[in-house]
Amino acid sequence: MNKTKTVKKALVCGAGGFIGGHLVKRLKKEGYWVRGADIKKHEYSKSQADEFLVGDLRDQKFCEKVFNLPFDEVYQLAADMGGAGYIFTGDHDADVMHNSAQINLNALHFGRLAKIKKIFFSSSACIYPERNQMDPNNPNCAESSAYPAAPDSEYGWEKIFGERMYLAYKRNFGLEVRIARFHNIFGPEGSWNNGKEKSPAAICRKVAQAKDGGTIEMWGDGKQTRSYLYIDECLEGVRRLMKSSFTGPVNIGSEEMVSINELAQMVMDIARKKLSVKHIKGPLGVRGRSSDNRLIKKELGWAPSTKLYDGLTKTYAWIEEQVKQNRKDK
Ligand code: NAD
Repeated sequence: MNKTKTVKKALVCGAGGFIGGHLVKRLKKEGYWVRGADIKKHEYSKSQADEFLVGDLRDQKFCEKVFNLPFDEVYQLAADMGGAGYIFTGDHDADVMHNSAQINLNALHFGRLAKIKKIFFSSSACIYPERNQMDPNNPNCAESSAYPAAPDSEYGWEKIFGERMYLAYKRNFGLEVRIARFHNIFGPEGSWNNGKEKSPAAICRKVAQAKDGGTIEMWGDGKQTRSYLYIDECLEGVRRLMKSSFTGPVNIGSEEMVSINELAQMVMDIARKKLSVKHIKGPLGVRGRSSDNRLIKKELGWAPSTKLYDGLTKTYAWIEEQVKQNRKDK
């Protein structure tokens, strides 16, 4: 009997980014052979991928090289995205739509030609209609509430188009697809000071930079609500979805909803600093948003459980270190 175990091959598009970087580490731990692809190398840690191809996934020639194997699993995480300061100003709308759509068109086309076995697409909570997220205490983000579609950003519209395109490839070409709608994923080794950071990283940075007794600035009145999911829980959800026979779309997020004021207070508690908050004008997004985990529990028999405080503690420690390092470098 041949006892040689075949090593599964995975491709991670967007491996130079926050979630992609962590996913490569997770897949390596699970024994996969991994190829990463991204327009840039990872900024905060050396990639553990067996191969890392640097190039533009909008470019068909580059995609031919990236998709030249019948991968067991492809994770398509590459996108032109960022936090509210990037997505909600309107300044990057054309890029966000054009770049991400082109990447997804290529991933599906070249993935199909390469006869890949299964592909994961990272959609977003930003696809949910604005009308269901006006009340900060009672947002509706059940998967079934997505239509009639009315996202509040072009980023959300591109993601919902993406979902439909992946589903069309499944329907017409029999491609195995898995789709998750991520809700505010956070953790170490993500954008924290480059204009693409999201609220947990931005608040951690501001708190880390402030002197005890000082002031931090916050966009809006801080009464808008969100839920945040720690990176390890996100990866657990992605891996479980990939192993299951459920296509999705399914929420991968936390149901621990907090206001941005509460989020800031938590970070100050972790940092043991007493700071005042100055509310200023800024891009905001919807008034309330939180994951609805009924479907993931039903389909995967699992839902995230890590407390926001615990994830923030690890994230703050990493960002505090970056801030210190940055000061030394100057
Ligand atoms: P990220 O910006 O850290 O990673 C995205 C990566 O895609 C980057 O490394 C970037 O260089 C790469 N990329 C962009 N354009 C490219 C191109 N033309 N060619 C090659 N690579 C390119 O973002 P992330 O937080 O890791 O998000 C990963 C995925 O999850 C994205 O699709 C994002 O839309 C989705 N998502 C993330 C969140 C979140 O809270 N982080 C929430 C919802 C959805």
